[in-house]
Amino acid sequence: MTIGIYPGSFDPVTLGHLDIIKRSSKIVDRLIIGVLNNSAKKPMFSARERVHMLELVVKDIQNATVEPFDGLTVEFAKSRNATVMFRGLRAVTDFEYEIQIAQTNHALSPDIDTVFLTTSVQYSYLSSSIVKEVASYEGNITKFVPESILPLVMEKIKKVRSV
Ligand code: ADP
Repeated sequence: MTIGIYPGSFDPVTLGHLDIIKRSSKIVDRLIIGVLNNSAKKPMFSARERVHMLELVVKDIQNATVEPFDGLTVEFAKSRNATVMFRGLRAVTDFEYEIQIAQTNHALSPDIDTVFLTTSVQYSYLSSSIVKEVASYEGNITKFVPESILPLVMEKIKKVRSV
């Protein structure tokens, strides 16, 4: 059985992430979406909120589960017996950063390979930061995030703005 992980911040999960999740879940027998609980990144949504949103989004993908993790991604992968790590590539700008991480991870743990999936063109501009930016100005984010999490994102943005 091939186990893959798809790690990220998912602050919040976007349709671009969901596209990568759907495609990678077809490549491995089991896909674990790892939600990075890294306080240095100062996420808008807590790890619990991000896990909850992802759970709503992947509920119909039978072989996908969601888990928070902290520490090194390769250690998380190893602890789950994963041999493949998925990352999405949007543009050349992603490449430089991603290749550095992939090579570091390979040096740390040669048994785990990073597989890059290129973004579907309709999501190539999409990022969690863009979603937060548009939502903070009350823009319409229905084209950016899965429908099931829309109310949660809007509610959070309202809360943050009222502080
Ligand atoms: P990180 O903080 O680890 O970069 P993100 O949540 O921003 O986490 O992204 C997780 C992964 O999803 C990364 O590999 C990123 O390149 C990829 N990704 C993000 N947005 C998109 C998108 N629109 N299309 C394809 N891949 C994406």
